[in-house]
Amino acid sequence: MGALLPEGRRLPDEVWRSRHRAVLVLAAAQALVLLPLGLLLGHPLPHVLPLVVLVLAPLAAALPRRWGRAASSAAATTSLFAASAVLVDLTGGLIESHFHFFVMVGVAALYQDWVPFGVGLGIVVLHHGVLGTFLPHSVYDHHDGMSNPWGWTALHAGFILAASCAHLASWRLNEQQSLHDTLTGVANRTQLGEVLERSLADGRGTAVVLLDLDGFKAVNDLRGSAVGDEVLRAVAQRLRGGARAGDRVGRLDGDEFAVVLDGAGGENATRAAARFLALVREPLAVDGQELTVQASGGVADSATLDAAQGAAGGGEQLLRNAELAVQQAKAAGGDRAVTYAEAMGQAATDRALLLEDLAGVVERGELEVHYQATVELDGGATEGFEALLRWRHPRRGLVPPLEFVPLAESSGHIVAIGTWVLRTAVLQAARWSREQGRPVTIGVNLSAVQLAGDEVVDVVAGALRDSGLPARQLTLEITESLLVGDFIGTAARLERLRELGARIAIDDFGTGYSSLSYLRRLPVDIVKIDRSFVGDLSGGGSATTLVASIVELARSLGLDVIAEGVETEQQAGALRALNCGLAQGYLYARPVSAGQVRLPATANPATANPATVR
Ligand code: C2E
Ligand code: MG
Ligand code: MG
Repeated sequence: MGALLPEGRRLPDEVWRSRHRAVLVLAAAQALVLLPLGLLLGHPLPHVLPLVVLVLAPLAAALPRRWGRAASSAAATTSLFAASAVLVDLTGGLIESHFHFFVMVGVAALYQDWVPFGVGLGIVVLHHGVLGTFLPHSVYDHHDGMSNPWGWTALHAGFILAASCAHLASWRLNEQQSLHDTLTGVANRTQLGEVLERSLADGRGTAVVLLDLDGFKAVNDLRGSAVGDEVLRAVAQRLRGGARAGDRVGRLDGDEFAVVLDGAGGENATRAAARFLALVREPLAVDGQELTVQASGGVADSATLDAAQGAAGGGEQLLRNAELAVQQAKAAGGDRAVTYAEAMGQAATDRALLLEDLAGVVERGELEVHYQATVELDGGATEGFEALLRWRHPRRGLVPPLEFVPLAESSGHIVAIGTWVLRTAVLQAARWSREQGRPVTIGVNLSAVQLAGDEVVDVVAGALRDSGLPARQLTLEITESLLVGDFIGTAARLERLRELGARIAIDDFGTGYSSLSYLRRLPVDIVKIDRSFVGDLSGGGSATTLVASIVELARSLGLDVIAEGVETEQQAGALRALNCGLAQGYLYARPVSAGQVRLPATANPATANPATVR
């Protein structure tokens, strides 16, 4: 259709079909009305019938889809305008019957294409001009001012031209709004889906590169949505600049972009993804400041679709595959592209099954809490424990938290699970404290989802009350990532938890966003240095400087420091030299079940069970 309309400005197939159906119904209906009308106006049947057939006949050509949009719409509009001509004929040129023609021009505009207007113009020339000249008829010369049939033709043709120009302007506007993303101007999901399906139908090979910005929420939350919008616009522009002629860039939603690569796959698609990521990574100047954003990329190639998937809805499938690849890229730390492989589909199915099993996991008693000691670096005395969740799955065995906590968070199950962990852990700490005759502290991890609701304060207060554990022996561990959302609400809830007497620790410190500013603005008591820094300590160099400055900073803010993941004497020595107070790691104890933890009977635990305390 419409060579004058650039590719991609076409109506989506589904929309076109439904409009075409409406036009066909209208055309058929008016053809049928013309028959009784003609008879009623006193015309003999042999005169009316051929005229009705003239209106109906083009519909036969408009029905089959195989002739394409241009032919189908031309046939349907031929019927529409033929009906106008017949009406004028049957009414003896009644001037009002010309209104029908003007209405039909509006109906033909539904196709959002030049072809139907061209058909209208052709019929006007034929009806008024040619027939008017060679078959003089009262219709064409009854009007004094318009005795020349070509005058009538020019009048109607002028109207069609004006209408088509007006419609063209409104199509553009409409298309701009319904097929383009208003913020960035690139294709929206609807149009991208269309382009994708068409490219798949061509069968020359199609690939999709999905790009999801890393940490964009933080940009929005911390710098404001105006800066966020600016970033999205800039990214869209860069992707557009980096796309080849046949590629189509679109925004699916939020910070998710996609590029459809027509006729590309395999290596080419991987190279394109790397190119797009490099473009996104280039520093941006927004609001007078330099800002760097990165993205995670997922590549999916039509070669990975099996025949059944490729047939219908292949585009959706391809996007889903690319989405799975993006998730892998994110899980691997972002700023990279991953190409979809079938195993990822399997992993997604696995996760879906695990998610089903997650419902009711607390009631079925499948969860366990393991405990890992926190020790004093000087002397190795056990200071307390961290509660670490485990799932004893009936078929899969012991499932580590990293495999199911994210699922529990996205499904909301974490609220019930987290409450259970908290209650179990504080009870255990209260029991140990009684047995030991000294306060044993317990660290419990809180998820962002738990902290997003006000109930968390009552849940913690209730657990403390029921267990009898003094609040100061409870440390709630939160990660920096959860502070990005509703910062003010979260900070307020943390403050209330702290008023209960609990201590707040920032877990995995140094891996999140803008750590230092959080430390100043949040009610925090403890910083847990992420094990990635501790692991690098043995090599000396920048990791040592980094840990030294975290310890120094914490001290200046009056905070305690726990080093996570201490595995070697060398690391422990380096931490001691840096004056770090507490440590946790396999060097001292692995997480074990409560039954396996044996504490010394005295308040001096330096000679405790080797399973937990060195
Ligand atoms: P985390 O809170 O940072 O916990 C420390 C993780 O490091 C634990 O992994 C622990 O087993 C591991 N670890 C301790 N020492 C060493 C070491 O020396 N070397 C190495 N390589 N690893 C060590 P785990 O138990 O798999 O837990 C992983 C994460 O899952 C936790 O990280 C925490 O973020 C989350 N998690 C665990 N339990 C819960 C829970 O009850 N609720 C929530 N929301 N999250 C939990
Ligand atoms: Mg923790
Ligand atoms: Mg940690």
